[in-house]
Amino acid sequence: MANKTLLYLGAGIFFVIGVCLFGYGVLNVIGSTSAQGSSNWLSFGIGFGCVGATFLAAGAGLVYAVQRGTKTEVVQQVTMKVDLLGETKIEQMKCRSCGGSLSADNVKMIAGAPTVSCPFCGTTYQLTEEPKW
Ligand SMILES: [Zn+2]
Repeated sequence: MANKTLLYLGAGIFFVIGVCLFGYGVLNVIGSTSAQGSSNWLSFGIGFGCVGATFLAAGAGLVYAVQRGTKTEVVQQVTMKVDLLGETKIEQMKCRSCGGSLSADNVKMIAGAPTVSCPFCGTTYQLTEEPKW
């Protein structure tokens, strides 16, 4: 989290520097068009404008990278939760006859119905009733 704040801070600094440089460049370009201005100011101003735009782009890129990173994190958290739920389900699944713990491998779809084959007692039955797991 601290890392993210630092990145946003960096992006903010990039934006500030970019706006300053860009503004300075624009001022130079405007100055070069005035009567007292030197023509050198034009290239000077364009140079500053380009560097400023680069900084702005870098800041935007940083923000984009941070937001993408956040999204990836959320997806990972959701995946973890789903995994945990799946494990819980399998843990709670027990053979109706002998109470032995079954895994997802012991449940197979036979004729469109989930069918349990207990590896401990050999019982085979369909999960037609509402499963408690
Ligand atoms: Zn069994």
